[in-house]
Amino acid sequence: MIIIMERGAAQENINKVVELLKQNEFKTKVNVGDLYTVIEGFGDKTTLTPGRIAALDGVKEVKTIREPYRLASRDRKEEDTVIGFSNGVKIGGDNRPVAMVGPCSVEEDYDGLLKVALAAKEMGCEFLRGGAFKPRTSPYDFQGLEEKALKYLKKASEETGLLTVTEIMDAGDLELICDYVDVLQIGARNVQNFKLLKAVGKCSRPVILKRGLSSTIQEFLLAAEHIMYNGNSQVILCERGIRSFDSTFTRNVMDIAAVPVIKKYSHLPVIVDPSHGTGQRYLIEPMAKAGLVVGADGVMIEVHHDPEHASSDGKQSLPIPLFKEVMNRINCLTDRLHYDKNCLSVNIE
Ligand code: PEP
Ligand code: MN
Repeated sequence: MIIIMERGAAQENINKVVELLKQNEFKTKVNVGDLYTVIEGFGDKTTLTPGRIAALDGVKEVKTIREPYRLASRDRKEEDTVIGFSNGVKIGGDNRPVAMVGPCSVEEDYDGLLKVALAAKEMGCEFLRGGAFKPRTSPYDFQGLEEKALKYLKKASEETGLLTVTEIMDAGDLELICDYVDVLQIGARNVQNFKLLKAVGKCSRPVILKRGLSSTIQEFLLAAEHIMYNGNSQVILCERGIRSFDSTFTRNVMDIAAVPVIKKYSHLPVIVDPSHGTGQRYLIEPMAKAGLVVGADGVMIEVHHDPEHASSDGKQSLPIPLFKEVMNRINCLTDRLHYDKNCLSVNIE
């Protein structure tokens, strides 16, 4: 840590900082300049947070050298995390990017879900995703079929061999959801629901963690850290767009740069969700491709058998014929991509 004291800080205040560092087994060095004193502290105790030092009188600024998200950081683990599944599918590292597709909400019509699942399978996708517990802005909107949806997902998975993903909103549903699906999703609205992060941290299922509507990248990585700190290192980060001042043309601003930034600072796999990232059907293909070109380990795309009558997010859902065309072109691109770790980007051959 680097602690910059206020101009002309009292010796007593400088001593207090040094004492606190030493109590926490930090090696210290005090640099006295003409105007400012700068204290260097080298140590590994997580108990001594920058906030505790910043609260001392006379401290102007505290800078940490290590990233605050320790387990998620590349400082801790240089090589990419790869998450594997029993059927051989792998996410992360040099593995081929995956595709997670399906309706925003699983609906009463099982055949509709099956049509999407069969199309996903045909197009080489690995995961069927669908909401059972829906986080809706309005209480009047469709809230999800809950266990019935989980049963549908499992049935569609048994019929197609696809792995399944669904969102968890309440830690109390964890056991139930784990009985039916392979991967848990924590949605943008729950990225800082720390009890929920802790609960999924204690289970052994991979977790897709979506970036919050106003999460900084650091806050996003610290949310992942909560899951990892509680014991689950199988975290997949998902860039799904953030709120900004202009929502005239797109629902959110999809932060493409977040992909290589996160890959530089973290070893965790990153996927992109252009459906929520843009809210526009016509933007899904270009933004999915953009995400892949900057190194995403997968894409999440909403697909519906009848988007005009979807219970949620119909506007951003691809109808099956268009999905097949788009996925075909995404697959052509994916076939030619080679991730280059040194320049944090992808070569197209
Ligand atoms: C979803 O995946 O359907 C969803 C609600 O996503 P987000 O949390 O990114 O809004
Ligand atoms: Mn949705």
